[in-house]
Amino acid sequence: MANIYSSRYFATVTFLLALLAGAVSAQAQESESAKDGEDFVFEASSNEFRAPTGVEPVADGLYTFRWGAARSLFMITDDGVIVTDPLNLKAARSLRDAISKMTDQPVKYVVYSHSHKDRAAGAQIFKDEGAQIVAQEKCADNIKETPYPGVLPPDITFSDHYTIELGGRALELFYFGPSHDNCLITMWSRHASALYLVSLVQPPTGWSQPWDPMGADFYFNNIVHYLKSVEDLAQREEIDWIVGGWISVGLDENGKKFLQPPHGTMTALTEAREFWELVMAEVKAEVDKGTFLTQVADRMDLTPFESLSRYNEEHFKLFIRRVATYYTTGW
Ligand SMILES: [Zn+2]
Repeated sequence: MANIYSSRYFATVTFLLALLAGAVSAQAQESESAKDGEDFVFEASSNEFRAPTGVEPVADGLYTFRWGAARSLFMITDDGVIVTDPLNLKAARSLRDAISKMTDQPVKYVVYSHSHKDRAAGAQIFKDEGAQIVAQEKCADNIKETPYPGVLPPDITFSDHYTIELGGRALELFYFGPSHDNCLITMWSRHASALYLVSLVQPPTGWSQPWDPMGADFYFNNIVHYLKSVEDLAQREEIDWIVGGWISVGLDENGKKFLQPPHGTMTALTEAREFWELVMAEVKAEVDKGTFLTQVADRMDLTPFESLSRYNEEHFKLFIRRVATYYTTGW
C-alpha cells in the first residue's frame, strides 16, 4: 500500500526477531534505565517496557496514540474524529491534546475494543464534547454488571458487525465470539487497508508468549476460531496491515533494542493462530493421556515454544497449567 508509511523494520525476518526476543528477555532480567533519546524504557520493577507518550502514523488519517505500553488507534476525517480505547482519564486528556494539535475537528465516536478497565476508562473527555461511545453488546452487559469508575456505558451497541461512516471514511467493527474478554472486536479501516486487534496479536510477530501467563478473562476454547475468522476477513478483503494494541520491542542487527512499529503484516495473525493451535493441541494430548494437571507443563515437550518472543519458561509453565485447568472445564 502506497499510503502506508514505510518502515525499515519490516525487512526484519520473523524468526530472527523471535530468536532475538529471547535475548531481550534475558537482558530484561537486569535493571535498565532510559537513556536520553531512547524510544522506550524498561522498568525492571514491573518487568515492563513503556514508551513515551506520542502519536505514530499508520496511514493517511490513521494513527496510533502511545501511552505507556498501550497503543490506541484513531482516525481523522473531514467531518470529525473516531478514537478507540481511551485507556484512562489522564491518557484520554493527553490524546485529546494530541488530536487538537492535528485538527480542529471534534471527536464524534469512541470505540471500545473490549470492556476491560485498562482500555475502556476515560471516555468522559470525549463524551463531554458530544462523542458517542460504541461497543459490542456484551461489553455493555459487562460494564453494567461490574461497573468501574470512569468506564462509561456505550451509547451504541451491536451484535456481529457495525460500520461507522464519517467524512467519507469508515471504521468497520467485527465480533467473532469470546476470546480475550467476551466482547473483543476487530476493527477495519478500509481506506488504510489495516485491521486493529488488541491483546490477541502483537505485530510484527505473532509467535510470542502471552503477556499474562494467568490468562485472565481469556476464553481459550474460541481463540483459534476467532483468529481464523480475522484471517478470513483479511484474505477476503485483501487487507494488508494489522495494528496491535500494545508496544513491542525488537533488536536490530547491531543488537540495539528498538520500539517496533505499530503495524505489521498478516503473518503476525497467522503466527498467533498457529501458536494457539499448537498449545491447545499439546495440552489436550497430555491431559488426555491421564497426566495430572500439576504435571502437564513438566511432561510436555516445550522445545517448539522456546523460540517464542518474550519466552520465559517459568511463566510459560504457569500458562500451560492455566490452559490445562481450562481444558478440564471442556472446550
Ligand atoms: Zn483486556
